[in-house]
Amino acid sequence: MRVLTGIQPSGDLHIGNYFGSIKQMVDAQKENDTFAFIANYHAQTSVKDGKRLAELTMQSATDFLALGIDPQKSTFWVQSDVKEVLELYWVLSSFTPMGLLERAHSYKDKTAKGIAANHSLFSYPVLMAADILLYQPDIIPVGKDQIQHVEIARDIAIKFNNEYGDIFKLPEYKIEANVATVPGTDGQKMSKSYNNTVNIFGEEKKQLKTIKKIVTEAVPMEEPKEYETCNVYNMAKLFLNENECKELQQRYKKGGEGHGHFKLYLHDIIWEFFKPYREKREYYAAHQDEVREILLQGAHKAKEIVAPTIDKVRTVTGIKY
Ligand code: ATP
Ligand code: MG
Repeated sequence: MRVLTGIQPSGDLHIGNYFGSIKQMVDAQKENDTFAFIANYHAQTSVKDGKRLAELTMQSATDFLALGIDPQKSTFWVQSDVKEVLELYWVLSSFTPMGLLERAHSYKDKTAKGIAANHSLFSYPVLMAADILLYQPDIIPVGKDQIQHVEIARDIAIKFNNEYGDIFKLPEYKIEANVATVPGTDGQKMSKSYNNTVNIFGEEKKQLKTIKKIVTEAVPMEEPKEYETCNVYNMAKLFLNENECKELQQRYKKGGEGHGHFKLYLHDIIWEFFKPYREKREYYAAHQDEVREILLQGAHKAKEIVAPTIDKVRTVTGIKY
């Protein structure tokens, strides 16, 4: 099966990105035809500093490779290196009813948080539909926040296919129920653009500082504490097996420990978990030319794969004359 994912280089990659998307991709590589890209056009909706966007693009690519995207097994590229996606974005715009975009949660959430309501943020789901449909994938692994966007891509594909025949495969999302929405330090969805992330590759001191910032219930040390609703527990459980989860639940129920103790524990398990990846990251950080070469080869492969689809689109829509 063909599996596709994209991540915006809109900030440091965080544990929500890891469990919601990256890990699922890495696991999928074993048995599938996998496609992963750095969505730098998408990131322009939030990153206006050009130098920073360029840096974040390389940083995200480096992180992705360190976390196990294998260029031998996956096609891995930067979105803007395959410009056909912008062409398809425009073509699909004429198959996108305004109402479909007006109902998009992500747009509403982001503008409610003060991110400028410009046209690119509004039409983001159309570019995402182009990202997906161009590659004819079967499955899109996502966090819960992106389900609606995959559904929008499907709706747009249906409209297009109704007009011109079966050009696009209808994509389906795949979601891991227990990691659907990783909470941020403020309890809301962890997001690069919300300043509430626990990063995958932060410095140790900074990570600890971030974890200490996690919002928790005010309960006296000696009393039992709720774990189901606790942001610290809900992050910790991502890294723990069933027995370890039960042990942590017991510590919450027993009382005698404060959230400060649970936070230290959380810090340790996250730091340990990403240790082998940090070592791999150091390698790629020191070999940026190798990363660039991988991205170029990936883009080359991606361009070959999209050629028949974009050609069909140009023909049926009459752009090819
Ligand atoms: P931004 O704030 O710029 O939108 P983001 O942190 O939401 O960034 P994206 O690049 O939009 O990250 O999303 C990349 C992938 O990570 C998507 O598949 C998305 O569903 C997943 N993802 C993002 N945040 C979370 C989260 N908190 N929990 C689970 N999955 C997530
Ligand atoms: Mg997002």
